[in-house]
Amino acid sequence: MTIQWFPGHMTRARRQIQDKLKLIDVVIELLDARLPVSSRNPMIDEILMDKPRMILLNKSDLADAKVTQEWIEYFKKEGITAFPVDASTGTNVKDIPAQARLLLKEKIDRQLAKGINPRAVRGLIVGIPNVGKSTLINRLAGRSIAATGDRPGVTKGQQWIKVGKEMELLDTPGILWPKFEDQNVGYRLAVTGAIKEEILNAEDIAFFGISYLMRYYWDALEERYGLQEFSRDADDSDSVIAIMEQVGRIRGCVISGGRIDLEKASRAFLRELRAGKMGRFSMEAPY
Ligand code: GDP
Repeated sequence: MTIQWFPGHMTRARRQIQDKLKLIDVVIELLDARLPVSSRNPMIDEILMDKPRMILLNKSDLADAKVTQEWIEYFKKEGITAFPVDASTGTNVKDIPAQARLLLKEKIDRQLAKGINPRAVRGLIVGIPNVGKSTLINRLAGRSIAATGDRPGVTKGQQWIKVGKEMELLDTPGILWPKFEDQNVGYRLAVTGAIKEEILNAEDIAFFGISYLMRYYWDALEERYGLQEFSRDADDSDSVIAIMEQVGRIRGCVISGGRIDLEKASRAFLRELRAGKMGRFSMEAPY
């Protein structure tokens, strides 16, 4: 597999974020609740230095709630404010301004003691492509500002967006790149849709996803595709492919001679998995 992590991208992204850090008080780091490690930039601590920050586990509607809770406790032990959100429906999003002020409490209290009226807290949203940055900005703004979708090249003049009276956000988020030299990280990102199928092959991604569900979420997989008679041995590639073929049969991905179009079946499987049709799942746990 030849996925490359482009150092040029990273250097540019890093410089852009560091420029923006000068303007802001607090960083809102968005991770995918299903994979908080792989969706995190490994150099984030170095990039953000000691800027106050909070971690939001986005797409929590798609993640295993129990595992998400374990992550929240994990981050709390590390001394980091973290909570789950769902930018697409707005769950917990309204708590963000108050949490941001809490992070700056000492500074705000000092100003108040001197009789200075503190200005709105200025925030920057950062995260890897597709993690939901634009959706969250639009949600916080209460209107459509940021174009959703992965278009890191599209930039316009920077503006502040008001979020109530107490917070302002930069309208363009900081885009970070995941580091996927580790093959499993690449596949996890691909299964959840953070990396497009053009980079990794759909059949390989689906194979990875199916074997993962066979190991950890068999019941959901069995129920959706009627796998009562199927082997659940995830280490046996024939068993994994038999399930892929079953998905194809059920979804009508059949080519001449009755053979299954595995690529089409893989795409159907991934679409359904990403849309939450097999229920919630997490791919990384803290313990
Ligand atoms: P960006 O590249 O980080 O700006 O990501 P976008 O905001 O464009 O979101 C990428 C995709 O994820 C879009 O299809 C969103 O609708 C979807 N999305 C964003 N937040 C959530 C969420 O909390 N839950 C779910 N299910 N989907 C989300």
